[in-house]
Amino acid sequence: MSGRYPDDVDVVIVGSGPAGSAYARILSEQAPLATVAMLEVGPTVSDPPGAHVKNIADPDARRDAQRRSEGPGAGGDTVGSPGDVKAGERRPRPGTFLLEDGYTQPEEDGLPVAAFSSNVGGMGAHWTAACPRPGDSERIGFLDGEGVLDELLAEGDRLLGVTADAFDAAPFSGLVRERLAAVVDDGRPSDRRVQRMPLAVHRRDDGRLAWSGSDVVLGDITRANPRFSLVDDSLVTRILLANGAASGVEVRDRRSGETHEITARHVVVAADALRSPQVLWASGIRPAALGRYLNDQTQIVFASRLRDVAGGSAPRGDGALSETSGVSWVPFTDELPFHGQIMQWDTSPIPLADDDPIVPGSIVGLGLFCAKDLQASDRVAFHETAVDAYGMPAMRIHYTLTDCDRAVIARAKDEIVRLGCAVGEPLDGDPFVLPLGSSLHYQGTVRMGTSDDGASVCDPFSEVWEAPGVFVAGNGVIPTSTACNPTLTSVALAVRGARRIAERLA
Ligand SMILES: Cc1cc2nc3c(=O)[nH]c(=O)nc-3n(C[C@H](O)[C@H](O)[C@H](O)COP(=O)(O)OP(=O)(O)OC[C@H]3O[C@@H](n4cnc5c(N)ncnc54)[C@H](O)[C@@H]3O)c2cc1C
Repeated sequence: MSGRYPDDVDVVIVGSGPAGSAYARILSEQAPLATVAMLEVGPTVSDPPGAHVKNIADPDARRDAQRRSEGPGAGGDTVGSPGDVKAGERRPRPGTFLLEDGYTQPEEDGLPVAAFSSNVGGMGAHWTAACPRPGDSERIGFLDGEGVLDELLAEGDRLLGVTADAFDAAPFSGLVRERLAAVVDDGRPSDRRVQRMPLAVHRRDDGRLAWSGSDVVLGDITRANPRFSLVDDSLVTRILLANGAASGVEVRDRRSGETHEITARHVVVAADALRSPQVLWASGIRPAALGRYLNDQTQIVFASRLRDVAGGSAPRGDGALSETSGVSWVPFTDELPFHGQIMQWDTSPIPLADDDPIVPGSIVGLGLFCAKDLQASDRVAFHETAVDAYGMPAMRIHYTLTDCDRAVIARAKDEIVRLGCAVGEPLDGDPFVLPLGSSLHYQGTVRMGTSDDGASVCDPFSEVWEAPGVFVAGNGVIPTSTACNPTLTSVALAVRGARRIAERLA
């Protein structure tokens, strides 16, 4: 041991979000003799480590956990309710922090609200937990043969604890789906019809809802694994290479300020879609596709109020999903290249009169996520000398919507109004396009491909072409243009990479 760190392990995992945790889980299951160290730059904010902060019952303790996840400048203003998000200000969501500068370049659209979480569990301690399956062109064609992708997605469901019935008691969610289906389902195959949103949420024995975070992905088997260690407040500054292959990492203890080296033949970089390429770049691993094909899902929101419903009035809530929430899914198709996440609230994003009682579950927040027209020029680049608040190479985002993107956004605006009118009376005049980066679903920056042709960073097992033993994980690996929430797909891809390492260590 050197300080809080082992000197030598079989596998180092950089980052403790759902993707890194999937590696730890599969290795614990399939290579129980392997030594695994997970290093996380942020603090532990929940118990068990990586647990979703929404499971913290006390609001003050929950807010404290969110603040401690908000990176070096923690504690600034955040947007709370869906109404606040709609205001379109450059403010982060609770538990996240924004890229301070370099988020846009002259005459480009940029990603003004590109965000991160720094805590054990990563964004997975703060997410909404929607886990839809990709469809049509969202799917990764080269993994589609012989059911490979579907088997991996099923493993992703298992690791994340995905269910479809957690909100079945929510009022009117059946009615919302019925009204949406009436205008959407015609001509669609059954798996692409309006349905309950699969969610990484389950009901506990005491009847309360529990959101899955990395704690669920890690599972008891990883926590009980004596060869697994998780060290928080630990910044991985670079991957060490010997003859071009992984030989370990350099890590800075953010508590003591000391730097240590850990030797390892396998290094998994699961440091989110913007910071994974940062770690590779800082290590001198700079393939042509690194940071490129960056894509975010432009998000459009609208709100309606269910018509013809009656019930008691709800207390004006904080906008968080509650027992009265329902979450419905309008799946992506190539014909309608948007993914619909339809949430029911008991609070309105538009101020309503105080004497206007809100029937619980009757406010319907509609969100459409658009698939991006992929371009190599959309990228996160890194500065040679300037550094960020952690001392890592500073980011420069290059990001531009194409004519095709603008056409899809225009179609999505029409579609969301159509859906809003189908479920009830619109509360808004016009749909609102959230600032770019709001989806928190950044992808493509360490993308997977079938050959080392300059358009991908890693092979179909997530191993970096030019650096054997270095694996990449997270949304950055996804090579397709998706509109659906990406975490399930990322975890599925992580399962495949982890199995590959487990085979080698067996
Ligand atoms: C409010 C919110 C709602 C969301 N809703 C959904 C949803 O409904 N469905 C969905 O699919 N996705 C959703 N997301 C996105 C989802 O949380 C992410 O897709 C998911 O967490 C990505 O997992 P990851 O492990 O790749 O990255 P992360 O969870 O971001 O974890 C990466 C970790 O790496 C650490 N790290 C970074 N650099 C270093 C370094 N150099 N050294 C050590 N550690 C490092 C970070 O601190 C972080 O903890 C949401 C996110 C938020 C914030």
